[in-house]
Amino acid sequence: MKRTIIWFRKDFRLHDHPALWEAAKEGIVIPVYIWSDEEKLSYSKSEASFWWLYHSLASLDKGLQTHGLKLFIKDGDEFDALLEVMEEADAGAVYFNERYEPDERKKDSRIAAQLESIGKEVQTFHGHLLFTPDLLNKQGEPYKVFTSYWKRCMQEVVAQPFPVPEKMQGIDRELQTLPIDHIRTLAERPWNEKFHQYWEPGEQVAIGKWEQFSDDGIFYYGTERDLISSGSSSELSPYLAAGNISVKAIWYSAKRVYEETTEMTARQSINSFLKQLIWRDFAYHQLIHYPDIIRLPLRKQFAEFPWKGSNEQLTKWKVGQTGYPLVDAGMRELWETGVMHNRVRMVTASFLVKHLLIPWGKGYSWFEKTLLDFDTANNAMGWQWVTGCGIDCAPYFRIFNPFLQSEKFDPDGTYIRKWVPELSRLPVPYIHRPWEAPAKVLEDADIQIGVTYPPPIVDHAAARKRALLAYQEVKGK
Ligand SMILES: Cc1cc2nc3c(=O)[nH]c(=O)nc-3n(C[C@H](O)[C@H](O)[C@H](O)COP(=O)(O)OP(=O)(O)OC[C@H]3O[C@@H](n4cnc5c(N)ncnc54)[C@H](O)[C@@H]3O)c2cc1C
Repeated sequence: MKRTIIWFRKDFRLHDHPALWEAAKEGIVIPVYIWSDEEKLSYSKSEASFWWLYHSLASLDKGLQTHGLKLFIKDGDEFDALLEVMEEADAGAVYFNERYEPDERKKDSRIAAQLESIGKEVQTFHGHLLFTPDLLNKQGEPYKVFTSYWKRCMQEVVAQPFPVPEKMQGIDRELQTLPIDHIRTLAERPWNEKFHQYWEPGEQVAIGKWEQFSDDGIFYYGTERDLISSGSSSELSPYLAAGNISVKAIWYSAKRVYEETTEMTARQSINSFLKQLIWRDFAYHQLIHYPDIIRLPLRKQFAEFPWKGSNEQLTKWKVGQTGYPLVDAGMRELWETGVMHNRVRMVTASFLVKHLLIPWGKGYSWFEKTLLDFDTANNAMGWQWVTGCGIDCAPYFRIFNPFLQSEKFDPDGTYIRKWVPELSRLPVPYIHRPWEAPAKVLEDADIQIGVTYPPPIVDHAAARKRALLAYQEVKGK
């Protein structure tokens, strides 16, 4: 009977796993995860996702065990490790779902070529996105505008997701493997133990979360997703990033809900959720065609942008001590929970690059370290979008006003009160601008500006003017 290695990477699930589905149909399945030097380097930068990785592996192994299979863990060079398992298991084939990050793509092609050159079979599959990310427009070029990309996607058909294979046959001999705890000890950081209070990684939890959202939140998503404390987004991003849940499965399930819904606003809400999933695909479309997007601005003139901010200001931004309540709430939420609401990501990111004139790459790296849902494509697109240096992005001169954003999307200050507790006794409207509060209001709320809460790190009007002047320097280039 054919024996196939399934090389798991960011697809820690059993449902809609095209490589697993194909191999299970054909014979014996040998699931493998390789803790390679590249994985070590990558997760040393994205520490929060490392925590998620460990728990996803544990959950995947548990899921496999219910089908009589086991996850084999290897530490070392990926090609060597694959070869070692193939020899041990007497397997002739390796199947895996594609990755789209530039270095990973190159590595995967190299490994596939090496294996094929010694007579092994390699098959790769698309499992991480709705569409293959290499779609081109009529001129044979990548899409640069989201609406055109989205319209094109609407003409394509999303491949039907696969269920969990009904029958999976594992190998009937012991293979050498490391315990998952080999990774656990490394994944633990003093600050990430608290993630357990907020998250449980893994496939079953992801499916449960989706079912709950598609029963309720999805109907209000269009009107409420920007309201920071409404809890009306799906909170599925870390599960999608690690592949605990399939985006195609979500797509078809949301489409079914759409078909069963007659109310117009609810239908629009579902559509607006589906559109976000296409934004995720669009991020990968950009990453495939502009692999430098991780490091370099897509609008080249931004390479000469006169960035100014200091390390001291960067640190204050990271720890949520800027004196701007919404920004501080977001940065503290991120550190505590490993995620941040999308609206607040936009405001905090904009504040870093426009109010503080700190290069977006510094923000990218901090998000990479602290986000549980860190995703190279989404993070790069998000930062370039906010900075105004990407494709189809917010123009640089549109500068978010953090107070207005806060008044609009956290009107009663619930979010600020939660994450900046020293301001919790301030009434509206001062919760959004504490330093404008009369002395008596501050005293009643037990606040001393400069002692219990910092004054604004920069003056909004002056920072805005400075940002626009800086933009003038590169605008025409
Ligand atoms: C500066 C910046 C950095 C970001 N970094 C990341 C990141 O590293 N990883 C990440 O997954 N998202 C990132 N985002 C996008 C977005 O903030 C998150 O996907 C969203 O907050 C996740 O919450 P949710 O799962 O409740 O999303 P929902 O609103 O329920 O959306 C469902 C899914 O669609 C996708 N999605 C939603 N919004 C976007 C978007 N704007 N761009 C791309 N995909 C989207 C996500 O996979 C999300 O889980 C970033 C945004 C900004 C502005």
